[in-house]
Amino acid sequence: MRRYATTVDAVSELLASWNEPTYRAQQVIEGLYDQRRPLEDLTNIGKDLRTRLADAFPLALEPVLEQVAADAHTAKWLWRTYDGSQVETVLMRSPSRATVCVSSQAGCAMACTFCATGQAGFERHLDADEIVEQVARAQHFTDQRVSNVVFMGMGEPLANFDAVWNSVETLHGKFGISARHLTISTVGVVPGMLRLVDAPLPVTLAVSLHAPDDALRSELVPLNRRYSIGEVLDAAAAVARAHGRRVTFEYAAIDQVNDSIAQADALANLLIGFPGGVHINVIPLNPTAGFPGSAPDNRRVRTFADRLVSHGVNATVRRNRGVDIDAACGQLRMRADGTPVPDPTVRAGHNDEPETPGVQ
Ligand code: SAH
Repeated sequence: MRRYATTVDAVSELLASWNEPTYRAQQVIEGLYDQRRPLEDLTNIGKDLRTRLADAFPLALEPVLEQVAADAHTAKWLWRTYDGSQVETVLMRSPSRATVCVSSQAGCAMACTFCATGQAGFERHLDADEIVEQVARAQHFTDQRVSNVVFMGMGEPLANFDAVWNSVETLHGKFGISARHLTISTVGVVPGMLRLVDAPLPVTLAVSLHAPDDALRSELVPLNRRYSIGEVLDAAAAVARAHGRRVTFEYAAIDQVNDSIAQADALANLLIGFPGGVHINVIPLNPTAGFPGSAPDNRRVRTFADRLVSHGVNATVRRNRGVDIDAACGQLRMRADGTPVPDPTVRAGHNDEPETPGVQ
């Protein structure tokens, strides 16, 4: 059993077979989950016992590379799993919160044209403890308590529903992260969204929209041919009603492709009256090797976002962070040797902090 799948029962059983007192099991679980410390640091447990426990409950992820941005607010890890798959995790810190961006799959089958992970294709689903461990390992890097987890790394979380939901329950129940601080981002996997409607924890939903009409969206997001904008918005509205939380829409702004005034008007028109209101995150495109588009200039992005706001639709432009470590949205993809896949242009960093339009 891997370390972040352990339970009091599993540890108790093992300790009993080693003739150790049973209260130690509680100490281990409290240390790993309540205190979120690495097993090696649980000094209330003898060193020898810690070593034996570490062998009995191994970690799932082997670090290949750790990169820390110059400002130390953003860090990124490339991990290798037991079968040689590679996944990435990003930690973003600000004074008010620490957010971990987790991968839910190695690769992705959704093939969104502008996304580096989509360009590389699908490898496999991650299991729940591989997802939970990403949060734990990022937590071990910082004294700041991880307050938010976003499923915005590699993969489509709702295409791996059971493992993702299992990890959500652990992050909520054992790490104590509130449901609203757990955000599942989807490209519009409608059956998964409908499962969220009935799910017992009201997690936050983010929907990657990227276009105001089906023709353009189908070009950027192939899944749109299966689930149209109308179906995706209906499912998102059902989640909003069931969870009582505002839905976020992500919109990667691509110069001269989806960022005109007319498209802002059409987008606003789609979302006016959405139950509970919406928040649109306009993300200037992070260039990737396999897609010819580029980000609009700042003024154009601002004009687009301001236009949404003029319709009464809440919209912010995300500020880029960690510019030096290639940790941006849609860029999580490394070579097997750990070096970044080279892109033709300078890349921007991860975006997580909403800003009001006009201050980017
Ligand atoms: N599969 C999930 C999570 C993907 S990553 C989803 O689609 O929502 C999180 C966000 O980054 C998504 O909105 C995705 O569309 C966006 N993204 C992907 N590549 C990007 C790029 N090159 N530039 C800007 N945003 C990108």
